[in-house]
Amino acid sequence: MRWLILVLVTGVLGAGLYVGLMPSSGRTTPENSGRLRVTATIFPIAEWLREVGGPDVDVHLLCAGVSNPHHFEPKPQDISEVTRSRAVFAVGLGLDEWSHRLVQNAGGTKIALFETGEWIKPKKLAMVTIDPAVKPDAVVPEKTGEHEGHDHAHHHHGDEDPHFWLDPQRAKIVVIRLATELAKFSPKDAAAYMQRAEAYSKKLNELDARIKTAAKTNLGGRKMVTFHDAYGYLFERLNIQVAAVVQVSPGVEPATRDFSIAIAKMKEIGQKTVFTEPAGNPKVAQMLAVEVGGTSALLDPLDTEFSEAGKTYIERMTYNLKTLVPEAFVGEKSP
Ligand SMILES: [Zn+2]
Repeated sequence: MRWLILVLVTGVLGAGLYVGLMPSSGRTTPENSGRLRVTATIFPIAEWLREVGGPDVDVHLLCAGVSNPHHFEPKPQDISEVTRSRAVFAVGLGLDEWSHRLVQNAGGTKIALFETGEWIKPKKLAMVTIDPAVKPDAVVPEKTGEHEGHDHAHHHHGDEDPHFWLDPQRAKIVVIRLATELAKFSPKDAAAYMQRAEAYSKKLNELDARIKTAAKTNLGGRKMVTFHDAYGYLFERLNIQVAAVVQVSPGVEPATRDFSIAIAKMKEIGQKTVFTEPAGNPKVAQMLAVEVGGTSALLDPLDTEFSEAGKTYIERMTYNLKTLVPEAFVGEKSP
């Protein structure tokens, strides 16, 4: 499967380069707008770049719509967008490794590639720390026909958890650093970038305060089964433990064994809500809900552009807080 993906990606990149050579028409953003052009792999980084860059920066998002970084194949338009970008801002930590090949094919050393996960102190993936018996590499994906069964480890190449954006404190570190890095491309805008980064940091502080309030409400702690192993950073702050995950290998349909473990854990801890994700398969959640005699609800890992949880990073994070620790928001209007 790894090879298949490489072939597919290479094929798409090849097509992209071909399209890039053809005369362009109907481009929405003029080449000579004078604005700095950058690309982000996932929604939170794109939004932070827009917040910091304001009207001075054009930001292209690669994982658009409900496509997500675990399962991403660049379209020809993505390659031409990257070709015209000064920099690509990725997560790293094993999440969006495809960005390396994409940058290489789109222009190589002329385009800077930043892995923002290197700017923060990462934590270990929850499933690795909590239960070594079900760590990703111990599970062989279904219907393989692929070599060694290692393909599923899209973001589990290491033990480090790439989903740092679900912690506003780490988000703040990255937002400030984005201002510094953008300023290197456009020194005349340095002050404006930093001003906006600081203004946005205040919003992140408010969100952080809500997390602290929610954590205090959840004094006894609780265990939860989530769709994939994405919420370690947020759960650590909220005093919640990951009991199991349904989709052990991100981007790969859960194996029967993963289902059994998830169902057993949900029954054990009395969890009646099955969490779905914008990029998840709703049939999987329905099946699980029937098994545990409960219902399904969205929990948003913010790795897609679109989500029913809300439009902005802050809205979507607040939605998650209200879903996870509703008692902390009693008396407030629902989202
Ligand atoms: Zn993930």
